[in-house]
Formats: sequence, structure tokens, C-alpha cells
Amino acid sequence: MDAPSLTALEARLHADLEILQLPAPRWVPARTVDGQPVLDTVIVGGGMAGLTVAAALTQLGIGARVFDRAPEGFEGPWATTARMETLRSVKELSGPALGLPALTFRAWFEAQFGAQRWRELDKIPRLQWAGYLRWYRQVLKLDVRNGQRLVDLQPRGDGLVQLAFAHDVNDGARTTVLARHVVLATGRDGLGAPWLPAWANDVPAAQRAHSGEHWPAERLRGLRVAVIGGSASAMDAAATALEVGAARVDLLIRRATFPLTAKGRAAFNPGLVHGFRTLPDEWKWRFRHFLNVQQLPPPQGSTRRVSRHANAHFHFGAPVQSAVPRRDGSLRLDTALGPLATDFVLFGTGYRNDWAARPEFARIAPHVRLWRDRFTPPPGEEDQELAESPDLGPHYEFQQRVAGDCPGLERIHCFNYAATQSQGLSSGDIPQISDGAQYLARGLAGKLLAEEAAHYYAAMVRHDVPELDGDEWTPAVFPAYRDAD
Ligand SMILES: Cc1cc2nc3c(=O)[nH]c(=O)nc-3n(C[C@H](O)[C@H](O)[C@H](O)COP(=O)(O)OP(=O)(O)OC[C@H]3O[C@@H](n4cnc5c(N)ncnc54)[C@H](O)[C@@H]3O)c2cc1C
Repeated sequence: MDAPSLTALEARLHADLEILQLPAPRWVPARTVDGQPVLDTVIVGGGMAGLTVAAALTQLGIGARVFDRAPEGFEGPWATTARMETLRSVKELSGPALGLPALTFRAWFEAQFGAQRWRELDKIPRLQWAGYLRWYRQVLKLDVRNGQRLVDLQPRGDGLVQLAFAHDVNDGARTTVLARHVVLATGRDGLGAPWLPAWANDVPAAQRAHSGEHWPAERLRGLRVAVIGGSASAMDAAATALEVGAARVDLLIRRATFPLTAKGRAAFNPGLVHGFRTLPDEWKWRFRHFLNVQQLPPPQGSTRRVSRHANAHFHFGAPVQSAVPRRDGSLRLDTALGPLATDFVLFGTGYRNDWAARPEFARIAPHVRLWRDRFTPPPGEEDQELAESPDLGPHYEFQQRVAGDCPGLERIHCFNYAATQSQGLSSGDIPQISDGAQYLARGLAGKLLAEEAAHYYAAMVRHDVPELDGDEWTPAVFPAYRDAD
């Protein structure tokens, strides 16, 4: 048998696509407005979600151009801000593969390292996942434009959305683009930013970092480091600090202990994958609120990566109330357990929707309907994150808070973490990303058809390519009728 190779895998993938007659030919009519081409769809964000939607749209014969502010190959957290050794997910997930076995991580891995190494693999190394996504983009020839930061997004009343991108490596030169529909695949903090508690403002900027930002780990050698939070990212940040030689690391965790179970796993089944978006609001809220309250345990491997260091200290029931810079350059953190001296604070405190942190959405922000605008949770189930989530339509589209105030807003589709309250976990995490992307792509196909139904109808009427020459039959002489008797 031939040794496995990426070239052979790519040939297999292309053969599979050919058998399936994919991608479909382009069918949306070309259009120009004021001399400028109108793109079928623009996807903002070329991370895992953006690439998967682009691939799903391409399969359906719909143009999909992706823009990402990051340099090529450095989209998303994997090769930039993430600090874990391996993915948190199990290795078997088919992720962005869109139902194609030859497009899975496993196929990519085995093509290079063989089936034996796959069997031996525990979880997917983080940088290998980044490498797989780079291959995914290249093998599918997706149209991704890097170094392009969205700076302005404007739905127009004429069936188009106008976007402006700044080219960060080209003196911020601006490009304007017109699209029929826009997909925001902007990630975990896609409508917001890393979240910091108010007291973080009292910590000098040079002495703090959030796990979602770039931070120079080497600077922590020999320092006392406080890590805020008990999330997976907090563990990764703590482990990184310990591995570069921090003098000690104190994890300050608000909860009395870690949750031991990941409750969401019990509810993960095809029913939830395909049915969450059509659940009654009360059930959507109930599921999501419960999971928010329970929270996830940090991964076992990440927790052990921290606890194997004798100078790692887990403090539970230790919310921080205030931070006071000291004259000697250190910090005093006042916690529920008492004061703690430290030199640097790492926040593993997650992300929040925050329109103010996203000037590129300034035009639409006041018009986007949020859950709090129309849903009142039962007493005891109040939840700020859910209340501030956009209240999306069936195909991830934003809806207007006041009908008529922002025509065209529905042409912008929110395919990032903020969609979760409306659409379930289908627009960011690995397990459901193909389902979400295909659902959105099919919805967009339907919208594109409906928007130009007259065009497709006229094309059908005009169609005059004969399939018969007219000489394949001879009209018969109709037999005369005779009564049976
Ligand atoms: C550290 C970490 C580990 C994770 N591990 C797992 C895991 O093991 N399993 C799992 O299922 N999930 C995991 N997740 C959750 C999820 O899978 C990731 O967040 C994943 O990156 C989501 O993909 P995405 O495409 O939605 O977002 P991203 O990968 O973040 O991509 C978003 C892209 O949008 C671009 N962008 C944003 N704003 C703009 C703008 N204005 N203009 C242009 N471009 C813009 C960004 O540059 C970025 O490349 C993890 C998340 C993190 C942060």
C-alpha cells in the first residue's frame, strides 16, 4: 500500500467532491452598482467559523469572500493568544469537514503521520489544529483576504450592505465593498471584547493582561503572578506563567470549588444540534441559563499542568474586591480571604458583548434587537449575558428593534458566539460548526433566490436550449372509437 500523504488525501477529497458534483456552479446573477461589483456574500472573520461558512456557501454555488484583520495563517486564537497544549475537545470531532471524511482533521493527520500515531494521539495539539485550518483554506481554495480590518458596516436601504476595510499593513488604506449579505464570523468576542472587572482599572496596564490578548510570558519570570478565574483559559495562563519560571502563581477563584461535571455534555445530541433554534424561548433561556450558572470544569490535563508545580496555589471563595498599587511597584489585591501581594495579574475572565468596544458596528448597534427587548425571564433566572444577546432571526440575521429604523439590517448574519442564545452552540465551537454553517448557507441560498425570483423566473421563461430535436417521434393518427358491442 502507498504511504499516506497529503497529496493523496487531496486527490481523494477532490474525487469525492467530483462524485458529489460539488461545488455547484455559480448561479447568483452578477451585478454592479455605480461601477462596483456586488459580492454575493462577504464573511468578516477567517477563523474556523468563517472558513466553514465560506466552504458551505461555495459548495452551494454562492460567492463567498472572506476578510480577516489577521495575517494569513494567524486567524483566531490557535497560533496567537491561546496557551493550551492541546484542544479541549476530543480528537474525534469532525468539526468543519461538512460531512466529507477526507476533509476531517483525522484524515489530515493520518495522511501525514499514519493511523498508528492517530490511535496513540490523546488530544489534538493546538498548533496542529492551526495547521489543519490552514490546509482547509488552501485545499478548498477559499477566497480569503488577510490584513483587512472591518471599520464600518452599513446596511443600505437598496438591498446592499456596504463595508469598509482598513488595510493595516498598508498605512490603513481603505477599501469599500458592496455585498448582498454579510456574515459576521468574528469569534468568541465577536460583538464585544475580553471582559475585565471594574477593579482592573486600578492595576497599571503594564502589570495586567487578559488571556484573550497577546502577552509576553517571558516577562513573568521571577514574578509573583495572580490569575483571576477558574476557567480553562485561566488554567492555561497560570500554566504558562509557571512554565516560564514565575516565582509563584496564585489562582483567585470566586467559586467555592471547581464544577466537576460538564453538564452540557448530557444534553448534546442531534435533537439539540438541529432543534435548539426552534425551541420555545422559555426553554432556550432555561438551557443556556443553567449552563451559565453551572459553568464548565477546566480540562483535567490543563488543571494538572498547573497543579504539578509546587508554587501554584488554588484559592477558592476568593473574589477580588480591589487592587492597590504599592510604592515598591508591587500590587495588593484585597480578596474575600484577605490581602495578597503580587506583581502581575492575568485575567481569565472571559468575554462580554459590548458594542462600545466595537466601533465598526456603531451604525447598527442602536438598531439591533436584543433578547432583553422582548423577553422577561422567570424570577431567579435573570442573566445579563443572555439578556444582552442579539435576538436573531431563523438564519442568524439581526432584527430591527424598531421596524423600519434600519432597513437592510436583516442582511447581516451574526455567526459568532453571540448567536448562541438564539441558535445554540452552532456558530463557534468545533462540535456543531458544520451543522451551523450548512444551515446558514442553505438559508442564504433561499434568501438569494427569493430576492431575485423575477430574474430566475425570466431566465426559465427565456430558456431555449432544446433537449429534443423534434424528430424523435411521429404523431399518431388517433384511433377511431368503436363501441365494445
Ligand atoms: C483559547 C481557546 C481555546 C478553545 N478551545 C476549544 C476547543 O478545544 N474546542 C472547541 O470546540 N472550542 C474551543 N474554543 C472555542 C472556539 O472553538 C474558538 O473560539 C474558535 O476560534 C471559534 O472560531 P471562530 O471562527 O468563531 O472565531 P475565531 O477563530 O476567533 O475567528 C474570528 C476571526 O475574526 C477576525 N475578526 C474579528 N473582528 C474583525 C474585524 N473587525 N475585521 C476583520 N476581521 C475580524 C479575527 O481576526 C479572527 O481571525 C476555544 C477558544 C479559545 C479562545
